[in-house]
Amino acid sequence: MPDQLAAEVTELVGDQAGHWDRTGLIPHELLRKMSARGLLSAQVPGEYGGLGLSSVQNGEFTAHVGSLCSSLRSVMTSQGMAAWAVQRLGGAGQRTGLLGDLVEGRLAAVGFSEAEAGSDISAMSTTIRPDGDDVVVNGTKVWITAAHYADELVIFGRYAEGGAAVVVPADTPGVTIERVPDPLGCRAAGHSTIRLDGVRVPATRLLGGAGMPLSMLVTLVLAYGRMSVAWGCVGILRGCLAAAGAHARTRRQFGKPLGEHQLVARHLAELLVSEQVATRACEHASARWDENAPDVVTATVLAKHVSATQAAQGAAAAVQVMASAGADNSALVARAYRDAKLMEIIEGSSELCQVMLAEHVLSDS
Ligand code: FAD
Repeated sequence: MPDQLAAEVTELVGDQAGHWDRTGLIPHELLRKMSARGLLSAQVPGEYGGLGLSSVQNGEFTAHVGSLCSSLRSVMTSQGMAAWAVQRLGGAGQRTGLLGDLVEGRLAAVGFSEAEAGSDISAMSTTIRPDGDDVVVNGTKVWITAAHYADELVIFGRYAEGGAAVVVPADTPGVTIERVPDPLGCRAAGHSTIRLDGVRVPATRLLGGAGMPLSMLVTLVLAYGRMSVAWGCVGILRGCLAAAGAHARTRRQFGKPLGEHQLVARHLAELLVSEQVATRACEHASARWDENAPDVVTATVLAKHVSATQAAQGAAAAVQVMASAGADNSALVARAYRDAKLMEIIEGSSELCQVMLAEHVLSDS
């Protein structure tokens, strides 16, 4: 990871992550600034004005952001996923225009999920209907990360016999965005319900690939999100390791540092194992991504599953080591504990990842 990018974000976040978590808001101008520097979607190639990081480099950068603030990392995941959707599905003109916007200050969110279509994306009922030179979008998306901040909404829906993704400006008539009032974690990530009521946009905003099977479109775009979340979980573990390690070195009970009590030391050892296991799984998946290897989808699902599970376990251990010092709700480990739990739910829950991994095993035998 280019060190100067990490240093830049460290400075931008400062000591604000706990405050953002408490207030449920990251300053909009900070997000715009990061977008305009290409930092929220750092894999966008240089030819479109992006930083052109590889998956391995962007992964390490994402982990760094995740170690500071999972809400910010979540916004980054959404922006990166939107950019990836445009890059992979869009035509040449869309790539130039829309990708350019996403590295010049505009912000984006991606909507797949609906009230009746969570794990089961095939139950999606949002429709994208051609009408002359326009398309008309109707439906409601739930729990959409970063939608509160977004200028552009990448909306997935049914289109003819297949599916499609359309980029809808958030201020288009018929779009309503309402915050999820009290999320468990990543509380400043701007999760929102998006209602689209007869929303009309030019057909040029329909990403190429319209009419492809919906599951194929979603899987392609989710792959980026899964990789990003996986690295974000590595960041959660690194933040927890640093905080719990420092505490165990300095806090004394029964006449010696906590870390010299073997049961506490064991928590630290397990936390290190979690961080290393998650890192290796992510490094492997990102290397496969950069090589465009055929097993990249499986490697990514595995990395996401391993990292999310390890982050949830590791954050719980870090709170245990810090006890009351970690029990303040905006302490780093308390935020990590709440944020990590959500990572087992999003971008393919742990169970859905297990189903996909088992399908991989069965298809090979
Ligand atoms: P359900 O699908 O109802 O599942 C409930 C439980 O049943 C889960 O444990 C699940 O694993 C299990 N389950 C379901 N089916 C199976 C099965 N076949 N086998 C075994 N177990 C199963 N969506 C977006 O489109 N964009 C976003 O940016 C976004 N951000 C999110 C951020 C947060 C913090 C959260 C909580 C959600 C977000 N979502 C987003 C929605 C997210 O993708 C869904 O919550 C997720 O897909 C799970 O769907 P669900 O909540 O409806 O749970």
